[in-house]
Amino acid sequence: MDHFTYQNGELYAEDVPLSAIAKAVGTPVYVYSQATLTRHARVFRDALSAVLPSIHIAFAMKANPNLAVLKVLAGEGYGADIVSGGELERALAAGIPAGDVVFSGVGKGARELTRAVEVGLGQFNLESEEEGVELARIAAAMGRTAVCALRVNPDVDARTHAKISTGKSENKFGVAYHQAAAIYARLSALEGLEMRGLAVHIGSQITDLEPSREAFVKMGALMAELRGAGFTVSHMDLGGGLGVPYRAHEELPGPGDYAAMIAQATSGWDATIMFEPGRVIAGNAGVLLTRVIRVKQSATNTPFVVVDAAMNDLARPAMYDAWHDFAALAPSGERMMANIVGPICESSDTFATARDIDAVQAGDLGAFRTAGAYGATMANTYNSRALVPEVMVSGDKWAVVAQRIEPSVILAAEQVPDWLEQAD
Ligand SMILES: *Cc1c(COP(=O)(O)O)cnc(C)c1O
Repeated sequence: MDHFTYQNGELYAEDVPLSAIAKAVGTPVYVYSQATLTRHARVFRDALSAVLPSIHIAFAMKANPNLAVLKVLAGEGYGADIVSGGELERALAAGIPAGDVVFSGVGKGARELTRAVEVGLGQFNLESEEEGVELARIAAAMGRTAVCALRVNPDVDARTHAKISTGKSENKFGVAYHQAAAIYARLSALEGLEMRGLAVHIGSQITDLEPSREAFVKMGALMAELRGAGFTVSHMDLGGGLGVPYRAHEELPGPGDYAAMIAQATSGWDATIMFEPGRVIAGNAGVLLTRVIRVKQSATNTPFVVVDAAMNDLARPAMYDAWHDFAALAPSGERMMANIVGPICESSDTFATARDIDAVQAGDLGAFRTAGAYGATMANTYNSRALVPEVMVSGDKWAVVAQRIEPSVILAAEQVPDWLEQAD
């Protein structure tokens, strides 16, 4: 459920007509609904805390690292799952306690590890033995102990898009399942590390719970094996990945179904269970507003609706063949078949092909739905376009929470070397 609804024939975010934001800020622009974010954070937490005695939830910041979004989630008691030093600084800037931050990623650098130890990071999810050895050296030299979990690759196919699948043995993430117990034992012996748990994350936009269940059962067996050998395993991090409906009327497992599966798969674990949701919290809490530049006839019978948003603003369709519903902000009731494309000079700059949409014409405003996760955060300035701005709505209030960065600002950061300046 979200708070983007039609009122008197116009699409609103909570109590604000989206056309008012488009007119004031210009397009393209991302708009987030605070009430939707809050609602998702609560529904997810409540579903899990109803069935598990001890949980910790860290929002996967890479889904939407906007400072205002993080503030909302921090206010809901969420920690952060980070994948870089830059995300660590954002989490701290949003007021998320360092102790509630989990650090994932295969390529944490020495500077990132040092800074994370310095601020008292909650949990390092080690993705290799090599990383653990390096972190132990850094922490010991600082006279500190880094709290760690070992990320395990369970070799389970999440049955999602190949580019967002992370739990198969050929993926770069985690250590091999059959080597995990030995690595855990060796890392537990190192000064500077406190090994306290296991972590797993098999992919994103997961719409079938069976692969996750299979992975969690394998993790439970590994936990029991380690405990049997005398090691402490008090925390089990089950990652994120729960999918969201990208199409109206799509029926997917929700937080309640997920929680029921987790309760069953983790029964008797006696551990704090950690989660790293991203998309399920932020996805349906955002839309990308765009204006139709023109409708161009094509060689086929399907016209091109050329909009002012492009693949640099919303990369998911070009990267993952992702679907985003498109809706006119003030639909006439007529429909049309169209290809929706952006202005970028790549054929992959296509949002929809031969799709039945609200009829639109040049100048009309529209929205790509479910753009709150992996939207603005993946934006770039390809084709010397502006970096897309972001707006947050709460009730009848709204504010720009990330400014549009104009091409002139980016141009000003470039320098021509003196030998070229002197050329003529
Ligand atoms: C991306 C990621 C997540 C979040 O995935 P969602 O599909 O957005 O829930 C969680 N944990 C790790 C380690 C990730 O890389």
